[in-house]
Amino acid sequence: MDPRAQVESLLRPDLRGRTAYGAPQLEVPVALNTNESSYPVPEVVASAMARAVAQVARDLNRYPDREFTALRADLAAYLSRGGVSVAPEQVWAGNGSNEVLLHLLQAFGGPGRTALGFTPAYSMHPVITTTTGTTWVDGMRGVPGAGRFDLDVATARAQVREHRPDVVFLCSPNNPTGTALGLDVVEAVYEATTGLVVVDEAYAEFARPGTPSALTLLPGRPRLVVTRTMSKAFALAGGRLGYLAGDPAVLDALRLVRMPYHLSTPTQTLARTALAHADLMLETVGVVKDQRDRIVAELTAMGLSPVPSDANFVLFGGLADAHATWEALLERGVLVRDVGIPHYLRVTAGTPTETTAFLDALAALVPTHA
Ligand code: PMP
Repeated sequence: MDPRAQVESLLRPDLRGRTAYGAPQLEVPVALNTNESSYPVPEVVASAMARAVAQVARDLNRYPDREFTALRADLAAYLSRGGVSVAPEQVWAGNGSNEVLLHLLQAFGGPGRTALGFTPAYSMHPVITTTTGTTWVDGMRGVPGAGRFDLDVATARAQVREHRPDVVFLCSPNNPTGTALGLDVVEAVYEATTGLVVVDEAYAEFARPGTPSALTLLPGRPRLVVTRTMSKAFALAGGRLGYLAGDPAVLDALRLVRMPYHLSTPTQTLARTALAHADLMLETVGVVKDQRDRIVAELTAMGLSPVPSDANFVLFGGLADAHATWEALLERGVLVRDVGIPHYLRVTAGTPTETTAFLDALAALVPTHA
């Protein structure tokens, strides 16, 4: 038997034949496919990081602070800037919000349990769900007479009542559609379920004015958690730091499943240094939002159908063959994301120069591709 077949026969049956998550990591002049920040860490912060890591390097013989106490206090202070007071005891963190989501599913999902999400949403939600042995229930977005990708109270509530999931994923602003959810939807879902409600707010900092965070709903709702990340607005995707705010009782449940010392000393140090320079790290958010709005306006003018966005990316439709357009853009040095929705592609808002390169490349294709 060849090694691959041997290993396949040992693999958990539910994982056999699967393909791994794989946004292509290609060397291209204009990479706009993973919703990272196109802006490097500012020089003054990069130097502060180097100094801070050098300082802790000598102590790497010791395990890190397992409770990442100082980092939790810094994250709580950052979240509290939004106007809702969040205590360090309410904050959990992991190596990217993906790991935080994994902890949630390990603790609250598992064999015999179900998690519901509203598709299209973040593609890792079903992956994390099923790798923990939890059953994924593919809910639907779409409001008759309104947006195809919207999610309203009635649609969400009906599906929660029908499926009675143990965990419900809401994503706001939603990836890949970009749209933020009304808090009425979060409230309605919370009331319709006895399970855990996870609001994935990875892109919260890019939301348009008047889009409140689900953090405001935390008081009195112990089954609600709000996840965030430093990978997007904070321009720290390589630092791998995601976090959540929730009830201290939920955090105690996560302590049961996390690996001891899961956040390395350098990770904690880098994140704390970034948080100490929060204003500087977030300085490019405004520019990115402007580019996002520019993309929506210019794609509309080209006759395409961009979805209004509260995030740092835009999903746009109106393409005859989305994959062919994806390939043609790549040939012109522009990498965007084919998220598998027929006739749609997703593009990250980058620097003004990158955005121009994308718009120029697409404009040249539209006559034959739209
Ligand atoms: N949630 C959403 C909605 C995302 O789009 C992403 C990244 N693409 C993540 C979570 C995970 O990000 P990270 O693990 O880098 O925090």
